[in-house]
Amino acid sequence: MAGSANKMKPKPWTEVATHLVDVAMGRKPADLVIRNGRWVNVHSGEIIAGTDIAVAAGRFAYCGPNAGHAIGQGTKVVDAGGRYLVPGLCDAHMHVESGMVTVTEFCRAVIPHGTTSMFIDPHEIANVLGLPGVRLMHDEAVAMPINVHVQMPSCVPSAPGLEHAGAELTVADVAEAMTWENIIGLGEVMNFPGVAANNPVMSGEIAETVKAGKTVGGHYASRDLGLPFHGYVAGGAEDDHEGTRAEDAIARVRQGMKAMLRLGSAWYDVAAQIKAVTEGGVDPRNFILCTDDSHSGTLVHEGHMDRVVRHAIQQGLKPVTAIQMATLNTAQHFKLEREVGSIAPGRLADLLIVS
Ligand SMILES: [Zn+2]
Repeated sequence: MAGSANKMKPKPWTEVATHLVDVAMGRKPADLVIRNGRWVNVHSGEIIAGTDIAVAAGRFAYCGPNAGHAIGQGTKVVDAGGRYLVPGLCDAHMHVESGMVTVTEFCRAVIPHGTTSMFIDPHEIANVLGLPGVRLMHDEAVAMPINVHVQMPSCVPSAPGLEHAGAELTVADVAEAMTWENIIGLGEVMNFPGVAANNPVMSGEIAETVKAGKTVGGHYASRDLGLPFHGYVAGGAEDDHEGTRAEDAIARVRQGMKAMLRLGSAWYDVAAQIKAVTEGGVDPRNFILCTDDSHSGTLVHEGHMDRVVRHAIQQGLKPVTAIQMATLNTAQHFKLEREVGSIAPGRLADLLIVS
């Protein structure tokens, strides 16, 4: 969150690294020490009992067997009582508009469910208000107490010539948005025939995103895994949440994409595709969980990413593997591994204590 206008956000790791070293070494006290937890370690795939975590400047400073040396007079100490310490959950692709609420209200609904990072594509606002609408959502996202990253909508209008919403986004708009603080990449490139046909708007938007060092979100909504699929992949999309069958997930992973599996209010695409891992033996680190569209009722009554993780475990996935798909895998995909997605030194102290 370098240079964030949000005063609630911790300073960049580099600005507080010497302080984190001092806390890890016991030369300065931590702000918070959590004792005796089960560390869900998404890097090693282990669950490590008897773990202490020391937090300073809003970041993890020490994760190990005994943080007693980091406790000073002003340190708040919490006894986890053997509960699990889980990294804050990430929703890798979603549209706040589907909840029929603002970004602020959406965050208010999902924070109690353990969501600490969201990757939102304000496509619906963009359809109506264009770039100023994206900016509106972006600026609200920057002000949130959790990490709300914004994917720049790629296909506005979504069906050129068939709709009259009034807005249009151009390659120049995408290039401009890539300079905004919380823009994390390009949102669902849904004009897949356009990509395969080398439509200059599609190839131009993808090129601007790649030039900015950001992630290109895919959206290949077709069951055809023949040449149109191969042409789409060659265009540069790095993930896809439109698969519905195990073979869809396998095809995407083989081509170097991340298979994003969604469980939303109307999407039930985890159960079939997760068999690529549980039965097919495909590397689970290439799988990411998301919701895409959650109605407010789903959020309130069933939950958010906690619901998706529970569902994935019910499909036969190891719990730590399911958690990886909603934490570290997502962070790595969006080049945020140094900031979020795990409980490890330097990362933002986004942590859940759960039974
Ligand atoms: Zn979407």
